[in-house]
Amino acid sequence: MDVLNIARDKALTDGTGLDEVETLACLTLPDDALDDLLALAHEVRLRWCGPAVEAEGIVSVKTGGCPEDCHFCSQSGVFDSPVRSAWLDVPSLVRAARETAATGATEFCIVAAVRGPDERLMSQVRDGVAAINAEVEINIACSLGMLTQDQVDELARMGVHRYNHNLETARSHFDSVVTTHSYEERWDTCEMVRKAGMELCCGGIIGLGETIEQRAEFATQLAALQPDEVPLNFLNPRPGTPFGEQEPMSAVDALRAVGAFRLVMPRTILRFAGGREITLGDLAERGVRGGVNAVIVGNYLTTLGRDPAEDLALLGELSMPIKALSESI
Ligand code: SF4
Repeated sequence: MDVLNIARDKALTDGTGLDEVETLACLTLPDDALDDLLALAHEVRLRWCGPAVEAEGIVSVKTGGCPEDCHFCSQSGVFDSPVRSAWLDVPSLVRAARETAATGATEFCIVAAVRGPDERLMSQVRDGVAAINAEVEINIACSLGMLTQDQVDELARMGVHRYNHNLETARSHFDSVVTTHSYEERWDTCEMVRKAGMELCCGGIIGLGETIEQRAEFATQLAALQPDEVPLNFLNPRPGTPFGEQEPMSAVDALRAVGAFRLVMPRTILRFAGGREITLGDLAERGVRGGVNAVIVGNYLTTLGRDPAEDLALLGELSMPIKALSESI
């Protein structure tokens, strides 16, 4: 049977995801089947997630100088990239949370470029989360690297709603992307987060030199973790990093990945994260009508995203309401 018919039965009718072989068949569909793939992915998203789009703002509490060597990352201190190490204070965190809430976003993610949090970072996050909770109505998410069980428990006790930790790429490709920690270490943090009752946000980057088979492998490995949210990034080659000279992937391949990931995870929040401007340009709209149901508003961590007003206007044109806070708690 044609893979789109299989996907119609599994993802649309039953709400179950495609397996690795079926995912590969989606990722290798001919260009003239792209519209059908995206239309089905959109139907699946509407059926299982509804029309609302979740908006999230992110702020970096500690930027740059990370000891890890993720080859795509300009925040690694190991490479010669122009991002400088910097910390944000608690009043600035609260201000960023307030500005994010004012856009209508329901999630505010505090991000740090670290292997995992030390006591200084945990204390900053503790104070920041308490201050934001006291003053701003918004869900707080964190992305602070690999965690110990004690740190997972503490973040859950603080009321952190969602924790982001990406697998980044397929298990079989991981050693070509990162050498300072293992796939299993990343996986373990994700498992601990879910078991502690926080929502798990786990995704990665497409276009890291993985084969198309590894892209299918990655999608199904993510699905096995049952993440509440999957942020999908497309490599935006950063100067000074080992992947700085790679070609950005083509828009058609990026859209095929968007559609396929939706069919692998019919019920998850699928978010456009970094790199979509360089890869998709104005075609991003097709992604939002092809399975994506969440966006980041405003600046990304080290590259400029779009003006929040532009994204929000686009969603208005597409008649997709921004998810309200009352629907997301
Ligand atoms: S991706 Fe995260 S862990 Fe890897 S170098 Fe960048 S900030 Fe560090």
